[in-house]
Amino acid sequence: MLCDMCGSSGSMFKAEVEGAVLTVCQNCSRFGKILGAVKQHEVEKIRQKKAEEKPEAMDIIVDNYAEKIRKGREELGLTQKDFAKKLNEKESLIHQLESGNFHPNIELAKKLQKALGIKLIEEYEEKHEELRHEKAEGFTIGDFIKTKNK
Ligand SMILES: [Zn+2]
Repeated sequence: MLCDMCGSSGSMFKAEVEGAVLTVCQNCSRFGKILGAVKQHEVEKIRQKKAEEKPEAMDIIVDNYAEKIRKGREELGLTQKDFAKKLNEKESLIHQLESGNFHPNIELAKKLQKALGIKLIEEYEEKHEELRHEKAEGFTIGDFIKTKNK
């Protein structure tokens, strides 16, 4: 649990600072009106809420899906026609997939993965987004007050 104002850890208090209820350390609580100590179960709740806010990783189809599907199929010794039959899909779909003209959706990719024993889906995290979020969180209310008072 970190102080909303200075970012230090330790026992926390709920305090009203400039109309906002913040979780602050003992040192920073003097800037506002103390409403009470933060209880452990509340800390847990806040931690859970923060975890939920974390952007979820997206599933994306690998770039070389066409090559992977073709290789996987060939390893099984199946023709496009046989493979289509096995998947209960159209032969033209397999052809499109293997020539890279048809980008499979996650559902189809999962089906192909299972049938071929290959990996077509990978987790993709928006790195830039995350960095931006971290920076925003690093800007504490304390900074805000300092900036405002300039
Ligand atoms: Zn503090």
